[in-house]
Amino acid sequence: MTKDDSKNEALMPYQLPFPKDALEEIVVANAIPEDERIWVPQAENVCFRPLCLNRSQGYWVNLLRVRKSGVLSRHRHPQPVHGFVLKGRWHYLEHDWTAAEGGYVFEPPGETHTLVVPEDVEEMITLFQVNGVMCYVDPWGKVTGYEDVFTKIDLCRKHYTEVGLGEGFVDQFIR
Ligand code: FE
Repeated sequence: MTKDDSKNEALMPYQLPFPKDALEEIVVANAIPEDERIWVPQAENVCFRPLCLNRSQGYWVNLLRVRKSGVLSRHRHPQPVHGFVLKGRWHYLEHDWTAAEGGYVFEPPGETHTLVVPEDVEEMITLFQVNGVMCYVDPWGKVTGYEDVFTKIDLCRKHYTEVGLGEGFVDQFIR
């Protein structure tokens, strides 16, 4: 093989078909959407934007947007969460650190926390990958409700129907 040949091969795309059972990729051009209808309300001043609703493995990736003094209710994670802050700043009532724009957070299984956005932050947006289930709890850990990839999908279908995008709008994010 000449030097030229190996240079050419470095730029040669993979030549074989992908596994026939592989799922289709998801590419979201405007992950932070301008169309307000894409944000799904979930509590006062709190909404999310689905990116990947993985029903086959039981996790979801979304952008969480919280505006002015919004609170994401106390909840427990039996499985890990990864977060990357795209905008603004927030903290948990249970920890003394603050997550700010450009920061990454790993939340280990066993975390119970309450997400609050301080008064002086107009808006925060964070990408979260949440695995399994979020159990909403009272201050002593008694479970009061839950969310999983299926409740997320249901919320999306209901909201997208109401705003006229149609319940099928969510399908592009489901794998
Ligand atoms: Fe959480």
